[in-house]
Amino acid sequence: MATYDFDLFTIGAGSGGVAASRRAAAHGARVAICEESRVGGTCVIRGCVPKKLLVYGSRYRDELDDAAAFGWTIENATFDWSALVAAKSKEVDRLNGIYLRMLRDAGVTLVEGRATLIDAHTVRIADRTYTAERILLATGGHPVVPDLSGREHGITSNEALELDRLPRRLAIIGGGYIAVELAGVFHSLGSEVTILIRGRTVLRGFDEDIRAFLTSEMVKRGIRVRPDTRVRDIEKRPEGFDVMLDQSDCLAADAVLFATGRAPNTRGLGLDEVGIRVDDAGAIVVDSASQTSVESVYAVGDCTNRINLTPVAIAEGRAFADSVFGGRSVVMSHENVPSAVFSQPPVATVGLSESNARDALGDVDVYVTTFRPLKHAVTGREERTMMKLVIDRASDRVVGAHLVGPDTPEMLQGIAIAIRCGATKAQFDATVGIHPTAAEELVTMRDKRPTRPPYGG
Ligand code: NDP
Repeated sequence: MATYDFDLFTIGAGSGGVAASRRAAAHGARVAICEESRVGGTCVIRGCVPKKLLVYGSRYRDELDDAAAFGWTIENATFDWSALVAAKSKEVDRLNGIYLRMLRDAGVTLVEGRATLIDAHTVRIADRTYTAERILLATGGHPVVPDLSGREHGITSNEALELDRLPRRLAIIGGGYIAVELAGVFHSLGSEVTILIRGRTVLRGFDEDIRAFLTSEMVKRGIRVRPDTRVRDIEKRPEGFDVMLDQSDCLAADAVLFATGRAPNTRGLGLDEVGIRVDDAGAIVVDSASQTSVESVYAVGDCTNRINLTPVAIAEGRAFADSVFGGRSVVMSHENVPSAVFSQPPVATVGLSESNARDALGDVDVYVTTFRPLKHAVTGREERTMMKLVIDRASDRVVGAHLVGPDTPEMLQGIAIAIRCGATKAQFDATVGIHPTAAEELVTMRDKRPTRPPYGG
């Protein structure tokens, strides 16, 4: 029998790779993990965590404005972008330290550098090779920038979280998760933000009502959304940039952010040479056990382009480690994965959109409510919340919940559990509400929506 340096060699120390490595080590495996950048990966270093801290920082704008309605006088409130960035970076450094410590405490060997696969059991980093019985690919993804002239003048989310100064005018190309989240941050902090989208509404792939409602709430807040717009090129000017649009007009901006999607990090890994299949998008093809086309090699997280969310990568990584090293077969379910978009207002969603539910189930009932949160009866702020439930008519099961409004990401986790347990609309209705909250609307929706949707679409 072959002897290897390690039982598991993981490439990539982001959420998925670290979770899998620690779990495998806890099962007694001899584990090494390799990272070319900072341990923690996209989520901790340049994604979810720093982004959420900027969202927190930016939310004070509304809170300070609203405070007067509740009797507060707050004078001379000022904002310092570099202080926010420094606070964010300090927390990222702390978390990076925790990740390093967790790996060390778990007995996982950390190898710094860029890894390439040599064969089904061997990786090379710089001039050293390491062998392992199994290899886990957890290399994540990177921002994609379209091939247009002047693209070098634009930034991506990587740089947006580290800007030296707040741009006075920010143009954002794209209307997905990253676009709407960073639009909310920069707008609340005082930038003039314009989102340039190819369609009519933001967040393609989400429930149509959510898309239309969020788009209109963002516009109401003062974020400019330019629909049906394509960017031709970006030209540098003495002061900032001109974003040239297909309509033959242009938009002046001090910074241009590409939020045009992400792609798996699979180039230059040696996948071809070892015979590991990738799909047309460059994602590693895996089965439900996260096993690639080469028996000893597995892959989890964004490099497999299944559902590109940190908790999904973690669950995939742990399922792999429990199955391969823990002696119990665990299959990660990719159904009913809840997620939130930290736009302003935020979106939280789980299960099927109305149109996907109709396609999959045929007859569905839809309940929608929109209301002004109690707080804004006092502040006068014209901000509304929307909640939508999609029900399978045959079984009465709630198959989708879609929320837009303050605190909805915090509300949705519990709803996701209920939906996972197969809760019916009758069981939602039988649940006593918590008063006064916005969440109580979820158990008091009585009127089915007539066939014609009230919003957009
Ligand atoms: P998304 O895939 O969400 O959105 C990409 C956007 O870019 C779409 O609006 C798309 O438009 C547009 N686009 C793509 N190509 C072009 C082009 N050539 N010209 C103009 N527009 C273009 O990508 P993001 O970068 O926003 O996020 C990547 C992933 O990261 C997400 O899918 C998500 O999995 C994850 N993420 C999750 C977060 C969370 O959970 N809160 C936060 C941030 C990221 P169109 O619709 O017309 O195709």
